[in-house]
This record gives sequence, C-alpha cells and structure tokens, in this order.
Amino acid sequence: MMDGSTQLVGLIGWPVEHSLSPAMHNAAFDALGLNWRYVPLPVPPGQVEAAVKGLAALGFRGANVTVPHKETMMSVLSAIAPRGIVPGTRMLGAVNTLVIGRRADGTPIIGGFNTDDQGFVGALRQGGFEPEDGGNAIVVGAGGAARAVVCGLLWSGSGHIAALNRTPEQAQALVADLGKLSCATDSESGESRLHALPLTPETLVESARHAVLLVNATPVGVWPHVEGSIWPDGVPVPAGLTVFDLVYRPLETRLLQQARQSSARTIDGLGMLVRQGALAFDLWTNQGFDVTEIAALMRAACERILKE
Ligand code: NAP
Repeated sequence: MMDGSTQLVGLIGWPVEHSLSPAMHNAAFDALGLNWRYVPLPVPPGQVEAAVKGLAALGFRGANVTVPHKETMMSVLSAIAPRGIVPGTRMLGAVNTLVIGRRADGTPIIGGFNTDDQGFVGALRQGGFEPEDGGNAIVVGAGGAARAVVCGLLWSGSGHIAALNRTPEQAQALVADLGKLSCATDSESGESRLHALPLTPETLVESARHAVLLVNATPVGVWPHVEGSIWPDGVPVPAGLTVFDLVYRPLETRLLQQARQSSARTIDGLGMLVRQGALAFDLWTNQGFDVTEIAALMRAACERILKE
C-alpha cells in the first residue's frame, strides 16, 4: 500500500509495458519491508530531458533507463548534471540508472550510473565462472549490451576478448572506443587485449577453439524467434566453453540448449537482469542490503512471471 511517505523510483523507456523490472523491484521492496514503489514511466523519444527534470521535481529517488534511451540519457546528463556521471559510465557511453537526491535547499542532485557491466560480471561469477582466471572470451554483438559485457570483462581481468559482429564496422568501433581503457592493453606485451572480427559461422567456431567463454549479446534467439542461434547447426559446442546468453525470454535459448547438449556450462540472461537491478536497488536505497540476496528475490519474482 502506498501512503504519504512512499518513495518512488521507476523505469524510463519506450515502450515499457513488457518489462520485468516493476515486478522484480516491487517484490524486493515488499520482501525487505521498504515503503518504496517502482512504476513504469513510458517516455517517448525527444522527451528524455523533460522526463528527468520532471522526476527530480516530483521527488522521485531515481530510475532505471532502458531501450531506446540509455545513450540519449548520457547526453542529457552531460548537459544538465555533468558532474553526476561516474567515469566508468562515461566510458560505456550509456546510463541505465539515475539516482536523485536533494540538497538542503531542495535543489536536486542527479547521478548517472551503469550497472550492466557489474551485473554481467556478478552473474558470470554466480554461474561459476571467474573472469580473472584469464582465459580468452568471445563476445557476439557490438551494441550497448556488448559494450557493457566487454567493459566488465576488461575491468575484471579476463584474457583476450574477440568482439564478433554481423556489421564488422560496429565491432571495430567498439574495439576503437574501449581499446582506450588502460586495462585494454596487456601490461606485459603492450598489445591490445581486444580485437574485432566479422560474425560468420567460421570465425565463431574457430575463435571458440581458443576461448573459455562465449557471450551472446545480440537478440538472436529471443521469443518469438526461439529457433534462432548464433551457433551453427551440426557443430558441437566445445565442452570446455562457458556459454552466457544475455537473452532471457526464453530462459533456455536454443544457444544454451546446444551448449547443454555438449555438456558445456550455461548461464542464462536473467542472472544479469536481476544483478543489474539489484545494484540499482542498492544505489537508491543505500541501506547495506546484500546485493546477492536482493538479486535472488528478484529472480524468484521474474521466474514466476516467465513461467506464466
Ligand atoms: P543493440 O544495441 O540494438 O545491439 C544489438 C546487437 O545485436 C548489434 O550488434 C546487432 O548487430 C546484433 N544483431 C541484431 N540482430 C542480429 C542478427 N539477426 N544476427 C546477428 N547479430 C544481430 O541491443 P543491446 O541493447 O546491445 O541488446 C542486445 C541483446 O541483449 C538484446 O536481446 C537485449 O534484450 C539483451 N540484453 C539483456 C540484458 C540482461 O540483463 N540480460 C541487458 C542488456 C541487453 P548489427 O550491428 O549488425 O546490427
């Protein structure tokens, strides 16, 4: 129940009605006894700055930001709250979480964060894969999610990363941008830990022979196109590979089925969704809750919905 002291957060996106975020955040607020509510906030393109200023004026404590506004939010905040953007988020070029506070005189303070990279790494670790063990990784895709995945891997000390994309220029742009990070250069050899390749069945299968981790950061395989997979039919997935699919509708994608059939380790996309959400929850509430516990509460709520 809401009352005069209910704290509000929400999801800025367009559209937002199919998002799992309201259900998972509200389940965690309820389970932890917090008088907070998370509401969907459909914001059409062109209205992002007005929406942020409106949320700040209305006393919202923050928001998540989703498609298609994550990159736009970076330019909006660069104009209205440049000092609120943390450096790692600036490097990613996308904001998925706003934290809104108030000074004593009531003027708002707005912070821009991105929890996708740490959400990915947290889910990877929870799935039993330690990125700092140093093996090579393949990331398929070169959009916003792939950038978060590559940053998470670089920052956590993984080995060499191959970025494979259908449009090779996008993979090259990702490598050019993220190659500027100091951690993208091998400290011993001085060589880049990142390289770009066009996505073909041959490049993927050949790269996988030298890798320990394969991440799908494309929408291939998402419902209703559930027969789609980035991995070619008739070629066994190397059993030593850990396969992480960012797609979580369905929970077990065709790619994860192919990996399971080869006894490769699989990690589904819901782990990242709930981790990035739990990290945002922690930024807003700032009460020292265990992020893993919040993520577990959120996962249970999402699984209930996905089963229906
Ligand atoms: P995006 O910025 O639109 O990028 C999409 C990427 O997928 C591009 O690199 C695109 O290649 C590639 N792609 C699209 N269709 C393809 C196809 N049929 N074959 C091969 N490549 C294809 O999207 P995004 O924000 O990065 O999201 C990517 C996926 O990750 C989405 O399904 C999203 O729902 C999911 N995601 C999940 C989480 C999570 O928490 N689990 C978080 C973020 C995103 P081109 O450059 O050639 O177009």
